[in-house]
Amino acid sequence: MLTILYDGAAKMWPVYQPALSAALAEAGIAARLVLPGEAAPEAVDYIVYAPTGPVQDFTPFTRTKAVLSLWAGVERVVGNATLTQPLCRMVDEGLERGMIEWVTGHVLRAHLGMDKHILDQSGTWVQVAPPLAPERSVVILGLGALGAACARTLASLGFRVSGWSRTPKELAGVDSLSGAEGLRAALARAEILVTILPNTPETTNLLNAETLAQMPRGAVILNPGRGNVIDDDALLAALDSGQIGQATLDVFRIEPLPPEHPYWAHPRVTVTPHIAAETRPSSAARVIVENIRRGEAGEPFLNRVDRDRGY
Ligand code: NDP
Repeated sequence: MLTILYDGAAKMWPVYQPALSAALAEAGIAARLVLPGEAAPEAVDYIVYAPTGPVQDFTPFTRTKAVLSLWAGVERVVGNATLTQPLCRMVDEGLERGMIEWVTGHVLRAHLGMDKHILDQSGTWVQVAPPLAPERSVVILGLGALGAACARTLASLGFRVSGWSRTPKELAGVDSLSGAEGLRAALARAEILVTILPNTPETTNLLNAETLAQMPRGAVILNPGRGNVIDDDALLAALDSGQIGQATLDVFRIEPLPPEHPYWAHPRVTVTPHIAAETRPSSAARVIVENIRRGEAGEPFLNRVDRDRGY
């Protein structure tokens, strides 16, 4: 019988306990699910992990075969020097669906100029029809599990979609770019820019005064990835100068975003409180259990984090 430690948010245990139990039963895996303190660390086979759980030191978990993150972003654990066990991040259909919906909704909002009509009901009748999707260029920085899913959906709606990633991709209807030159080309055509990059040293301040200036004047930025990607002062300056027309931001360097932060009051910034996509316990539990099955069968883990890349 395996021992699986749930080291996620305590408030989510009543949801994850039945979801994990059901997924384990479905997979025919005999296991006991325990909370921190309920089993000796050296008896734990797998850790179901979120940064909100109490485990900070992985050294005593000598028998643990993998640390299975409930979160897609692993920046808070990937550099933990005590973590020598394999680390897997979350790729979940619930997360993917949520991200597709948030991104598509905000892309359509920007594309159709919805704010103008929602905010201006003054009685002025000015007919300017928005362009159609094939006339709109949308760029996605990050073509991983989530970025690629959003790119496919936007392409299926007819948008001109380009994506930028470390390595080139083959995605139907998506122009794949990579490298420094690829970034320059991507930014130059980004009427609407979506960043779904992980938080790593390389992605930090990727959008800064220099790169924001490479975008078309009045471009819209959507950031449901990570806050570190944007140099906040540079974005505020670009918004004030009109170089960037609007920004909708879901993630920030400090969360919750402090009430006094200028983003809250800025007329052309929309703050959403890190709700773009959430791991959904029932589907995520199956992903976790599939990795446990793989671990027990000696098969490679899914979604294993590359420590050197940081994601
Ligand atoms: P993946 O690891 O699947 O994809 C990451 C993508 O970013 C890959 O395409 C990768 O390129 C690219 N990338 C990483 N570093 C660089 C770089 N230096 N230069 C160019 N491209 C780079 O992650 P997911 O798609 O699953 O998730 C992305 C991020 O979204 C997560 O890390 C998390 O921070 C965030 N997130 C936010 C949520 C929210 O609610 N706001 C919810 C869930 C996730 P390559 O493919 O070549 O490796």
